[in-house]
Amino acid sequence: MTTGSSPRVTGLLLLFVLASSAVRGDAPGGAITWRSLQHVQRTLGVTRHLWDGETICFSNSQNVIRFYPGRRKADVNGTVVWLNAPVEGSSTNSSWRWAAVDLDLLQLAVLQKPSRDKPKPLRVLLDPGHGGVDEGARCPDPLVKEKDLTLALAKRIGAQLKEAGLHVDYTRTRDVTLTLGARTRLARSKKADLFISIHANHASNPEACGVETYVLPPCGYPGTADGSRVCGWQIGNRNDFHNTLLGFSIHRHLASIPETFDRGLKRQSFFVLRETSCPAVLLEFGFLSNTNETRRMLRDAWQSQSCAAVVDGVLAYARNVKTLDRTVAEKRTRDAENNERWRKHLAAQAARAAAEAEAQTNRQRAVVAPSAVSLPAATRTALTNAVASASPTLQPQGTNTAPIQIDALLEFYTPDKVQ
Ligand SMILES: [Zn+2]
Repeated sequence: MTTGSSPRVTGLLLLFVLASSAVRGDAPGGAITWRSLQHVQRTLGVTRHLWDGETICFSNSQNVIRFYPGRRKADVNGTVVWLNAPVEGSSTNSSWRWAAVDLDLLQLAVLQKPSRDKPKPLRVLLDPGHGGVDEGARCPDPLVKEKDLTLALAKRIGAQLKEAGLHVDYTRTRDVTLTLGARTRLARSKKADLFISIHANHASNPEACGVETYVLPPCGYPGTADGSRVCGWQIGNRNDFHNTLLGFSIHRHLASIPETFDRGLKRQSFFVLRETSCPAVLLEFGFLSNTNETRRMLRDAWQSQSCAAVVDGVLAYARNVKTLDRTVAEKRTRDAENNERWRKHLAAQAARAAAEAEAQTNRQRAVVAPSAVSLPAATRTALTNAVASASPTLQPQGTNTAPIQIDALLEFYTPDKVQ
């Protein structure tokens, strides 16, 4: 038998689960919020899409964006951006769908119109990777240690950023050993607005080449490397939108250097990205496992171009960050309002279910309990006696508990039922 409390408990439990998931983000426990093709077209400001059998392309006068269904790869105005979830669906009925988190990041951070504002005078903390006993990657011929290359690049970038009017600090300016924890603590103690970790890459495949830029994956999504685990919420997730704006701004410039292979804006839960409280990126300039690329990275012209690209990216971010602050604040307000509306809707639904269950219980009680039947005491006694004398099996069992059969009879003889 259904009790009055069961649907109420279920309703409240459902309310709790849904409300908490709505607050925590888009992918709690792996459940992704999806957006339809129509939603994506509206967001991107296009009315049509082009399907060439392999990619879906959206374009208008400002942007050309290409997605690869079944993959996390996307191409935004010529720059590779890796999504948090692959685009799903099929071309037969245009049933494709995109993760809401990807669309939000794309709309607010990646596709932000370049601003002409004066760059905000941010405090940038440059982090030359490795150092001291930790050499990082190395190329044997020509001999290059990652720790030396990253320090040289950081100093060049820092000098240009200072010239552009930004404040610059370094996690190290010499060949010293520094833990990852010490680096992220410096970001806090120096009150950095931005953290840029500088590295060179290494792979077992000597042909691997190109530049890649990393930001922290949003809560609940895996990194872009094969087999990456899904992580819970990290300190760095406070800055998902700003991380993406910074990462895309820098990567767009780095990837456009001639003869550079664009490996994309990627995501990985590296320590310095998840534990840094300000917006943070990690740059992998090129592969020390590739001899040709190592030679190229040693060239002054390449270093000059690459450092200028990072500076251009940081300045683009510094011009746009005010707009992003505003649009993210507006989105959070909208999300909070939607969550509140949803919470109220679920609470009303749970209350309706509880009221219905209670009414059902009362109806059942009315059938089994005679208390609802108003009948003069004399009539009740006469009827009881009549039934008792007619059949011994219908004997009352106590003064206040009438057998069910008598109740049915009493109900039948209630005044409104008597003809
Ligand atoms: Zn490294």
